[in-house]
Amino acid sequence: MPTHPAPLLVRSATLPDGRTDVDLLAIDGRIVAVGGALPTPDGAQIEDAKGWLLSPPFVDAHFHMDSTLSYGLPRVNASGTLLEGIALWGELKPTLTEEALAERALAYCDWAVARGLLAVRSHVDVCDPRLLAVRALLDVKRRVAPYLDLQLVAFPQDGVLRAPGALDNLQRALDLGVEVVGGIPHFERTTGEGAESVRLLCELAAERGLRVDMHCDESDDPMSRHIETLALHTQRLGLQGRVTGSHLTSMHSMDNCYASKLIPLICEAGVQVVANPLINITLQGRHDSYPKRRGMTRVPELLAGGVNVGFGHDCVMDPWYALGSGDMLEVAAMGLHVAQMTSLAGQRACFDAVTVNNARILGLEGYGLDVGCRADFVLLQARSPQEAVRLRAQRLLVVRGGHVLSRMAPATATLSLPGRPRSVDFTRQGGPPRPQAAG
Ligand SMILES: [Zn+2]
Repeated sequence: MPTHPAPLLVRSATLPDGRTDVDLLAIDGRIVAVGGALPTPDGAQIEDAKGWLLSPPFVDAHFHMDSTLSYGLPRVNASGTLLEGIALWGELKPTLTEEALAERALAYCDWAVARGLLAVRSHVDVCDPRLLAVRALLDVKRRVAPYLDLQLVAFPQDGVLRAPGALDNLQRALDLGVEVVGGIPHFERTTGEGAESVRLLCELAAERGLRVDMHCDESDDPMSRHIETLALHTQRLGLQGRVTGSHLTSMHSMDNCYASKLIPLICEAGVQVVANPLINITLQGRHDSYPKRRGMTRVPELLAGGVNVGFGHDCVMDPWYALGSGDMLEVAAMGLHVAQMTSLAGQRACFDAVTVNNARILGLEGYGLDVGCRADFVLLQARSPQEAVRLRAQRLLVVRGGHVLSRMAPATATLSLPGRPRSVDFTRQGGPPRPQAAG
């Protein structure tokens, strides 16, 4: 793509804060003006938003790009459980090649861009002395960099203490350029070893000046409490704002009294949280008869407690999940349903969970629609964030650095009802009510 595309002027957009008829001008990859009826610079490319919703791009704070699109290799997950998924991934790993892995990851990145998903944090399994997946994804990261930010987490899938050589492999992955330290304390052999893994991985991150993102307490066991250890070491080492606890599903099953102590601790430590609604609702509660627990962490309560919570896609067509398509609005919609966030504010919070909240978790620079931000955005066939979630709205236009990367046709149908031929879409003028514009 050209380094310096022509100025791009988007006319008549609605913004997530409710402002309407807004123009936005991008020059040299940055947003230089946002307002009503902007003058047209010479040679500008003009895109008429026709009142549709212009949003900063979607961000995925939790994904596994090394396993994506491998569904059915070498067999499908018969029980559908997390543990069979981990075993199945163990069977698949020796057969992986760098080329096939990169080809699947690049195919997924194409889906992501078409869906307006322009930044992904992906865990990459380091429990393989060859570091084959690490090398393949570092190559993919370099190749997609012009159009997608791929942030990699060194993830010891089989346990940094439990799997022989895993700590050494993890450090080698960091040396090669993987930028976030991962972990999986609930999968270590004992609670004590889990706590020890959290301590040593946080110290490793502090020494190297890196962020931390651990798979933490992905269990229905209410006594799986590694999140409190993660909060402790985050605070002790001054890592506030740089540490993420992913999943935290045991919190769903915890005693309310303990949860009421824990949530303020998470907030005080500046630990951020990622729930993975599609995966949590399908993998948790598998040991239950009825009633079956939902398993997703306490999203509304964490948000109310001042914790930044994002939603991740986690898996697409891999040993753990047969479905998915890179659609972060599907993720937001599932989170909304599982957490019963059906109020107008709750629906909006679910949209934020796949945009601004995830951007904070990744630490993205220049994210947003303000003057000075990167000219990255997506035009959605919806009139509000709530409608975008309801419809999994079409991505009419996807822009990166002021350059149009993707176009999608509006969703519409031609009806041939007796005596009433007409075209129909599923948007509703006038509803739901729009929040008042700020200022
Ligand atoms: Zn995961």
